[in-house]
Amino acid sequence: MKKMNHRKILSLCMCVVYCSLLVSCGSSSAKNTNQINGNESVTKVFENEKNADETDTNENNNSQEEKKDDVSASGDIFAMDTYMTVLAYGSHADEAVKEALKEIERLDGMLSATDKDSEIYELNIHHGGHLSDDVSDLIERSKEVYESTGGKFNIAIYPIVEIWGFASGNYRVPNQDEIDALQEDIDFSKIEFEKNSKSLVYGSEKMKIDLGGIAKGYTSARIMDIFRNLGVTSGIVNLGGNVQVLGMKPDGSEWKVAIQNPVEEESYIGVVKVHDKAVITSGGYERYFEENGVRYHHIIDPDTGFPANTGLISVSIICADGTLADCLSTSLFIMGKDGAIEYWKMHQGEFDMILYTEDEELFITEGIADSFISESKITVISE
Ligand code: ADP
Ligand code: MG
Repeated sequence: MKKMNHRKILSLCMCVVYCSLLVSCGSSSAKNTNQINGNESVTKVFENEKNADETDTNENNNSQEEKKDDVSASGDIFAMDTYMTVLAYGSHADEAVKEALKEIERLDGMLSATDKDSEIYELNIHHGGHLSDDVSDLIERSKEVYESTGGKFNIAIYPIVEIWGFASGNYRVPNQDEIDALQEDIDFSKIEFEKNSKSLVYGSEKMKIDLGGIAKGYTSARIMDIFRNLGVTSGIVNLGGNVQVLGMKPDGSEWKVAIQNPVEEESYIGVVKVHDKAVITSGGYERYFEENGVRYHHIIDPDTGFPANTGLISVSIICADGTLADCLSTSLFIMGKDGAIEYWKMHQGEFDMILYTEDEELFITEGIADSFISESKITVISE
């Protein structure tokens, strides 16, 4: 059995990170970029804050308003099993990046299904319990998307994710009887969620939840809130290929986010120009193992208990709401091209999407027809 190659995944993520940022920020005139490393955030950030203050003073001496945006700070961190980068512009950039890295660590510690200290682990052990505000929000959003996608987005899928070995890394193909035996235990409708009292009660002892399909989008959305609250008006986060941008680039142009080509490493199926949007991609190429020449990936169709196999290689969602974008990239990947198009038509105006098929065909929705650039032939989906 060929195991999932972590190094490859990391390099893919880094490639997307660097290329996205390269495409996004390469032409910016940032004069003073402070690099903050999440794992050493405390020491380094304070050094950087001092630098930023000094820079501000220098800039102010020159009293040129536009130079305020020339100050930028960036940071990176390995969290949620992936490589993440954060970049902010403006006089509060350092503080914003420092807060963003802290928030990533906080949410990572809270939302992991495998970390024994996490809230999700606790809930899974005790078959429910009282929820923090974040987890309550996440369950509420997950439930909405579970309902709107006819159960394709299902955070209660975890028992199946586990028997495939995606939680432990001990990958194996389960037999049909094992999958069938878990049908009741992956029924999200059997989990009682009380929004007001923020409580969760599982329907069976084998039930477990996993926020892997929503956590990164929620995190990028939270970071945008942090940026806004600190007065940052221009920034970008890249959480392992899940990108969200705030405002425009400092030069007033739109951010250019590259969509990775899952088939050819280090190349792109296209670039989408956005502002104030999340661009979140799901694909079977991200995490998988191979057995007897067959590739099994980590996005499970709850109706079969098997990795979704609908002819799509990747789905990118472009949407102002990062949390929704993450849920939908996972769900529409499972639905396949026709299901995804049908869903989009029923939710017009809520999001745009880029579908890349196994036949290497590209479909995009009309809302991004003027902002998506690609060398490949594109079919535009309209109402
Ligand atoms: P990634 O996190 O790799 O960017 P996704 O956002 O598509 O990819 O989420 C995939 C993760 O979501 C899986 O690793 C698993 O934890 C979880 N998952 C798998 N199948 C489903 C499903 N049908 N509904 C909700 N979450 C799922
Ligand atoms: Mg997702």
